[in-house]
Amino acid sequence: MIQYVLYKEDANKYIGYSDTRKVIHVGKLENAYRFNTANEARNARKKASKKMAYFHVYMLMDNGELEKVSANTPKRKSFTKEERIKIYRKTKGHCYLCGDFVDFDSYEIEHKVPLSKGGTNDLSNLFCSCHTCNLIKHDIYPQDFMEKISKIFMFQMRIKNKKCLKWKIVHKVLSRMI
Ligand SMILES: [Zn+2]
Repeated sequence: MIQYVLYKEDANKYIGYSDTRKVIHVGKLENAYRFNTANEARNARKKASKKMAYFHVYMLMDNGELEKVSANTPKRKSFTKEERIKIYRKTKGHCYLCGDFVDFDSYEIEHKVPLSKGGTNDLSNLFCSCHTCNLIKHDIYPQDFMEKISKIFMFQMRIKNKKCLKWKIVHKVLSRMI
């Protein structure tokens, strides 16, 4: 029977489950969880997208080798006016990333979990975004986006306020919070 595993090639790690059904990263194929279908593996990844970020579905061949299963990425769809209204209303017309107000006619639909990373075109995954945020976030996970933005902010502020005592205090506080 063909089985599937979730594998991250550059880290040489597999997805397994502990006795208490917690998602764990394991180093050996024999400890990897075996899924019966590729879709089962994809669904498991969706449930724990943070812990399984950048893990891909691999088919376990009879000879013990792994073959990467191409991502079944759903296509970007065009949205009806009703769908656009529903998505816009979720944040009352504000960009869900920076909080700016965006006109209904110019707002962009953002996939919170990108399609390329297993996200869907479901309403729950769609948010109102301004052009700039949509452009910067592109196809990365929200948590990675936040991490990068924080890094840029801290780095730029440090350059600008290197000698300012107030920044030194704020920096200390912020570093602990981010
Ligand atoms: Zn924005």
